[in-house]
Amino acid sequence: MDTGRRDAELSEKVREANRWSAGAPAGPVWLVQPRDDGRRATEHTYAQECDSCGHGSRRTADPADGTLWILKHVTGNPTHTAYTQTVKRAWRARRQAES
Ligand SMILES: [Zn+2]
Repeated sequence: MDTGRRDAELSEKVREANRWSAGAPAGPVWLVQPRDDGRRATEHTYAQECDSCGHGSRRTADPADGTLWILKHVTGNPTHTAYTQTVKRAWRARRQAES
């Protein structure tokens, strides 16, 4: 999805969330968005976890590392065939600028 379309969809979801919170006590309007401002922790990281025993791979920026971990894990544990990947992505909340 291109960035402009993604931002437009995100903006609509933020407006929807703000409409939803209209009944809350008066206060600042918050915007939430992926943290992609060039500062730390902006890239996705990935890890795999075995659904059978709970052991897991290291968390890295390369999703292939988790795939390799699964191959090694299932080789030693042939009945452990289900895994869950978790992806971390940095997000930010900021106050909407007064207009
Ligand atoms: Zn396992």
